Amino acid sequence: MIEEILPDIYKIEIPLPRNPLKYLNSYLIKGSERNLLIDTGFNQQECRKAMFEGLEKLEVNLRETDFFVTHMHADHSGLITALATDSSKVYCSEIDAPLINFGVSGVFFSEMHRLLVLHGFPLQEAAKAIDEHPAKKYNMGKTQVFNTVKENDTIQVGDYVFKCVATPGHSPGHMCLYEEKSKILISGDHILDEITPIIKITRWAANPLRDFFNSLVKIEQLETSLTLPAHRQIITDVQKRIRELKEHHDIRLIEVLNILFEGEKTAYQVAAKMTWDVKYSSWEQFPVTQKYFAATEAISHLIYLCHKNMVRKIDKEGKQLFELIR
Ligand SMILES: [Zn+2]
Repeated sequence: MIEEILPDIYKIEIPLPRNPLKYLNSYLIKGSERNLLIDTGFNQQECRKAMFEGLEKLEVNLRETDFFVTHMHADHSGLITALATDSSKVYCSEIDAPLINFGVSGVFFSEMHRLLVLHGFPLQEAAKAIDEHPAKKYNMGKTQVFNTVKENDTIQVGDYVFKCVATPGHSPGHMCLYEEKSKILISGDHILDEITPIIKITRWAANPLRDFFNSLVKIEQLETSLTLPAHRQIITDVQKRIRELKEHHDIRLIEVLNILFEGEKTAYQVAAKMTWDVKYSSWEQFPVTQKYFAATEAISHLIYLCHKNMVRKIDKEGKQLFELIR
């Protein structure tokens, strides 16, 4: 489905089959000389079909099109190598660009496997969680040379001038685009409506939940009339959504503290006791990929609490446990 949101700004809905995110919003900005396409969908047949059909309807010449990847995740970067031509620029933050290529080479996943085991995942489950991870199955398939961008860099497309705003948290190098004149924010996965962006730990961020909170404050200070997120519906009141997201994580932090009140636990054990908005009635029923997302999000909350001196890490028999500082 294609929708013109504002003059020369189109939303192309890319289905994400068998994925709870349902679909990705790819945004095309048409310019007089060059177009800019923001985020692409997975390197998966259904995404590819929707994207190429959408671009054809909008009469887009890929040789006159540049790309912007808001962050490393494969539902945003997966189709880049299929779409970019040798005359295309592919913009991405200098932090996430190499991580996308690490996803293709496998470096990212061997590191995540090590983290899962350290945080209490049974060995077999950890291997399966990595094997079935959509980012392993549907990434770009080959590496890409990126045009890296940093805070305050600008990209002009037609009459629009987009400023890069670094918003780490959801990924270490997540970046939003802000258009000052029209007050449009392209928010990637930093701010979503209806669902909360996952904040998970990787080796490349020391305290992602703190980063996420700081990035929310940064966006709170921008005057925004319309926020275009990468999933679900367009947001008109971003300030309200920011308040809700902060509150959501505050409640989660209290929940984690309550779970640790029972005694020391691995992140895997904490995740098993947290409440998740899923259809499964018990932790045992969670598919391993859901366990992966739950446990990595639990770790980011535990690490945040460690930095606040409310929780401490303990190393025990090759595993990392967390306990309350009483
Ligand atoms: Zn994402």
